[in-house]
Amino acid sequence: NFVKARRALLSVSDKTGLLDLARALVEAGVELVSTGGTAKTIAQAGIPVKDVSDITGFPEIMDGRVKTLHPSIHGGLLAIRDDAEHVAAMEAHNIGAIDIAIINLYPFEEVRAAGGDYAAIVENIDIGGPAMVRASAKNHAYVTTVTDPADYPRLIETLSANDGATPYRFRQELAAKAYARTAAYDAAISGWFADALELQDPTWRAFGGKLETVMRYGENPHQKAGFYVNGDKRPGVATARQLQGKQLSYNNVNDTDAAFELVAEFDPARTAAVAIIKHANPCGVAEGATLKEAYLSALACDPVSAFGGIIALNGLLDAEAAEEIVKTFTEVIIAPDASPEAAAIVAAKKNLRLLVTGGLPDPRATGMMVKSVAGGMLVQSRDNSIVDDLDLRVVTKRAPSDKEMADLAFAFRVAKHVKSNAIVYARDLATVGIGAGQMSRVDSSRIAARKALDAMEAAGLGEPLTMGSVVASDAFFPFADGLLAAVEAGATAVIQPGGSMRDDEVIAAADEHGIAMVFTGTRHFRH
Ligand code: 5GP
Repeated sequence: NFVKARRALLSVSDKTGLLDLARALVEAGVELVSTGGTAKTIAQAGIPVKDVSDITGFPEIMDGRVKTLHPSIHGGLLAIRDDAEHVAAMEAHNIGAIDIAIINLYPFEEVRAAGGDYAAIVENIDIGGPAMVRASAKNHAYVTTVTDPADYPRLIETLSANDGATPYRFRQELAAKAYARTAAYDAAISGWFADALELQDPTWRAFGGKLETVMRYGENPHQKAGFYVNGDKRPGVATARQLQGKQLSYNNVNDTDAAFELVAEFDPARTAAVAIIKHANPCGVAEGATLKEAYLSALACDPVSAFGGIIALNGLLDAEAAEEIVKTFTEVIIAPDASPEAAAIVAAKKNLRLLVTGGLPDPRATGMMVKSVAGGMLVQSRDNSIVDDLDLRVVTKRAPSDKEMADLAFAFRVAKHVKSNAIVYARDLATVGIGAGQMSRVDSSRIAARKALDAMEAAGLGEPLTMGSVVASDAFFPFADGLLAAVEAGATAVIQPGGSMRDDEVIAAADEHGIAMVFTGTRHFRH
């Protein structure tokens, strides 16, 4: 159960905490063996250390590509200490057992995220490091594997509490972490290749990520959670800089991602836009001449739901917009940037998180999406279809007016980001009623209209904003009833993928009511 540590091998790229650990190991009577850069750092601090080359009798060659890949090292890591044959092999070849492996890998993920060039990224694929991590973790019956500097204090405490030995459970836990690290590392490498080559077929990549943050809890307080990042450097919630506020929760990250991906559909060169998100669905989205104007229109859609929401902006958060946003209780604001004045206004709200991303992600970019199911996960390419690129086909007698057409494109752009079944009413480039996540499309339609009535009452208006609106549906209307519900609410034009067996019925119902309808040919299910 307990293994006395006599010899440690240290080979680390991240030299954080290295010297304190080396000193503590020597104090515990452990002999140190180390690779080039690591050995140099340790020796310069006056701590006794042997070079790996002294053990292998072989120099580091090929710019460090081959340094520890040698039987003297791998035999020392893999030998079963109480197996007669293994012991005989160690004696015959003069191999000394290694009891602790302190290894962290070439910073592949960091170099990739920093936008290194192809050759630099390839050179940062560690070979010997993962080989040693996997070997020592396999032999956890005898060997302790430490891959994360955060575990150094625990190693030191464990050795001093157990008279220089480690317990089995400790080595097992660190072995689990070691394989989590090498798996994430290789997933990052395959993901980088697939991204660089724009390979969307899942054959070319494994999925994984590096644990970036352990969260206080998951979707509910009794669930555990962590945020894993995959090294993708596009602007978004994983790469954002948090200027203020508490740590983001699991739900915050999920909602902030939904908000920012949605608002990124609006090209800032064309218009300012704001999205307000609750439970991963928008409760208000609008374009405007300014971000303040867009925010106020978005808020008007459903001011009740916006309470405690997440707000995404497609441009620099300015003082005027910040001034309005802080009037309503908000959890998170995410934007490409924030002016100093806006940041100061937000700073008055201690708990409000402000995230800046440095830009917007490209909605047309390829990428992969993962969803877990019992026993595995589902993977698909991201929905990078956008309405501007679609062939829109007018299917009714009446064609939409220019104003209707602009609102239709707006509504379909938003509907892509609403959980199915999605119905979005829009007027004047703002949502006026959103129906999300219903099991029947006609229910989503009714709910969206009902929300518009609520907004009318809240604003003290005479008629619901759906009067003279347009409506978007994420998938085809299977029957005419969903369309008729929209007509009843006052919509004058409809955008939907089409492709139902009963398209003719739906088109006839539209013609009967003078509705203009456009087919996109593309569906935007989102579950
Ligand atoms: P050092 O700074 O000590 O010269 O190098 C430490 C790094 O080298 C660690 O990140 C370790 O994982 C890596 N490493 C150790 N042995 C080998 C090897 O044989 N080949 C390669 N490519 N990397 C190695």
